[in-house]
Amino acid sequence: MSDSVSRRRFLVSAGAVLGVGPMLAACGGGGDVTAASCEGYAALDAAALQQRASLEYVDKSATPGQLCSNCRFYNAPAAGADCGGCQLFPGPVAPGGWCKSWVAMAA
Ligand code: SF4
Repeated sequence: MSDSVSRRRFLVSAGAVLGVGPMLAACGGGGDVTAASCEGYAALDAAALQQRASLEYVDKSATPGQLCSNCRFYNAPAAGADCGGCQLFPGPVAPGGWCKSWVAMAA
């Protein structure tokens, strides 16, 4: 295992223990996570990629206050994972991402 992989695993584990992921989501964070860096993205077929493209999905929201992590259609990441999912198309999405179907999470 390379140093960068073990360092990343340590940071992810520490973040999970400290609850950093939910804190980042709550404050609108999401860092520089990209869907392409997350598990499952490489297996997406052309149709799945077209679905997210048709909704104009981006990894980093340019719309203040609108993030995947506070969208009604967002599925939170599994423990230790960087990306969550979207109920509208397959594959991972970045917590700080956005698409044109964004709808505020129910209070
Ligand atoms: S609908 Fe759009 S903004 Fe909402 S979680 Fe899915 S990709 Fe993100």
